[in-house]
Amino acid sequence: MNQNENKVKLVFATHNRNKLIEVKALLPNHLEILGLDDIGCTEDIPETADTIEGNAILKANHIKEHYGYDCFADDTGLEVDALNGAPGIYSARYAGAEKNAEHNMNKLLHELEDINDRKARFKTVIALNLQNDEKVLFQGIVNGEITKEKKGEKGFGYDPIFKPDGYHETFAELPLSVKNEISHRAKAMRQLIDYLKN
Ligand code: IMP
Repeated sequence: MNQNENKVKLVFATHNRNKLIEVKALLPNHLEILGLDDIGCTEDIPETADTIEGNAILKANHIKEHYGYDCFADDTGLEVDALNGAPGIYSARYAGAEKNAEHNMNKLLHELEDINDRKARFKTVIALNLQNDEKVLFQGIVNGEITKEKKGEKGFGYDPIFKPDGYHETFAELPLSVKNEISHRAKAMRQLIDYLKN
């Protein structure tokens, strides 16, 4: 029998290959994760809520309703203390309508140019949405600070300018195995995995 036939299939509502790689590295063997591209969903799911939780729920509901899979969706915001929590829910499009990580980082570095308090956190909420109508939210936070310049080539998004507390390197300099021990998304994912195990 094909090993894949025994696996529980779950859709992760993302087009982001880097997120899929991170999440797949955390999963137990019996879970198979499909990305949106794997189920033929090429559209950009609207994220029109005004909270991170709300956007995760919108995305998960959309996939369950339109594609009929057990699924989960995540939404992440980078909250900078000196900017009163900005960019927050606007993290993906901080520098303009187009999602552009380089422009977003440049804008954030510019906003913080003369500011010493560089404390920040990534917050992820994962919304799980099962066909039996079970709906659960999981949250993960990592605290850190925004560096003065970009460092490192790994990861994605704001990784080159985010240094997690307790480390000298940015997320973009740290190996994925380390990011996956401490990151916002890993913390939320581990709760999701524990929930699914039970
Ligand atoms: P979303 O969860 O894809 O909506 O993420 C919002 C914004 O935060 C996007 O600009 C992402 O690139 C960024 N982001 C999400 N997760 C991470 C991460 O783990 N590291 C760096 N940036 C991230």
